[in-house]
Order: sequence, then C-alpha cells, then structure tokens
Amino acid sequence: MTPHHLHATATAWSLQTALEHLAQLADDEAAHIAAETLEAPALLHSPAWGRRHTLGGHGDPTPGLAAVTTAPRAPRRNRWADMHTRSLRKLGWLADQLPTAPAGPNPWWRIYDTIPRLQPGTAAAITRHLADEDTCVRTAVGCGPQRELLDDIACPNPRCAQRRIHIQTAGPPEVWTVVCAAECRCVGLACGCGMPGAVEGVAHIWPRAAVLHAA
Ligand SMILES: [Zn+2]
Ligand SMILES: [Zn+2]
Repeated sequence: MTPHHLHATATAWSLQTALEHLAQLADDEAAHIAAETLEAPALLHSPAWGRRHTLGGHGDPTPGLAAVTTAPRAPRRNRWADMHTRSLRKLGWLADQLPTAPAGPNPWWRIYDTIPRLQPGTAAAITRHLADEDTCVRTAVGCGPQRELLDDIACPNPRCAQRRIHIQTAGPPEVWTVVCAAECRCVGLACGCGMPGAVEGVAHIWPRAAVLHAA
C-alpha cells in the first residue's frame, strides 16, 4: 500500500464510523417520531384542547380548530435519516466513478473494496472526497476525529521528530494508522521517514505496526 492508499483506507474507516453514528441517531429519531405520532390522537381529547376551544371563543377559532382536528399534522422529518440517505447517495455516485468498484448494495463497501486496486492519484482524489464527507457528518453529529496522542513517541520523520504522533483508531485494529499532528510532509525517497513507498508531498502516514515496533 502506498501512503495514498493508507490515507484512503484510514479515511474510509473514519467515515464508516461516522456513518454508523449517524445511522444510530436516525434510528433513535425514527423511534421518537413514531412515539409522537402515537400520542397525537390523544392530544385532541386532552384538557388542553378544551381550554384552547374556550379561549378561541373570544376570536375566530372555529376554522383553525376544525383544520387541526380533521388534518393531523404530518410526522416531522427525520433529518438524521435524510442526511444518512444523502451521504450514501454521494458515496454511490463516487463508487460509480471507479471502474474497478464491485457492484453491491453498500456504496461504502464498494469504495472500500476497490481502494487497493486504485492508482495512487485516484486514491488521493478518493481520500479528499471521503474526508470532506467525513468532516461534514462528524460536524453534524458532533464528534471529532477518532485519534489518540501516543505519549512519548517521536515522529519517525527525522526532520520533524516532534512528539505529536497520533494513532487513528477508526475500524479494526489491524487497519489503524499513525499520523503526525505537526503535519510534516514527505520529501520522497531521501526523506528517511520509513513511510512505505515514500511519496513527495504526502502527509506522513504509517501503518500502526511500523511505528510502534520501531519505538
Ligand atoms: Zn512529524
Ligand atoms: Zn517521508
């Protein structure tokens, strides 16, 4: 895997975790909306409605009240579910742009499955799309990047060597990666960073084992 492929895989897992969070919110919201819909008919017979009717006697309440009783409000929209649907649609579009993506019902999986077969430049482009979507979903659901500072481990890039190494923990442990919060970039084969397939200009990223074994 080149660094481009590592970034694509790590970003795909981050997005997958964010989408799971979003799906959970959508399910919870669907349950709330269903509960409200069940409660609605009871409201029409509640004392509150009687009071409303009495107060209305001072003005022109009758048409309004009739409208409420004969046309119950539509259930409110589940904005989490809408966002989840939109996100999957975007991923479906993205998967369709990749000739090597397999068919299948899950657009995330179609992209994830084909990452190792992508050209490095395509992997970099896919990473940008996935990262945009990941940021968008995480901002909406209120969860930050899934990463932890690794105490006392210096950046393997000798020109950086800052102790701001983070492990990215989305997805199963075997796909976790390590990045530098100083955002030091690779200068290519002469870099000395030990990044597999060092590529000039790419933000450093290492498989977890590559850094933790060296430490
Ligand atoms: Zn660094
Ligand atoms: Zn490097």
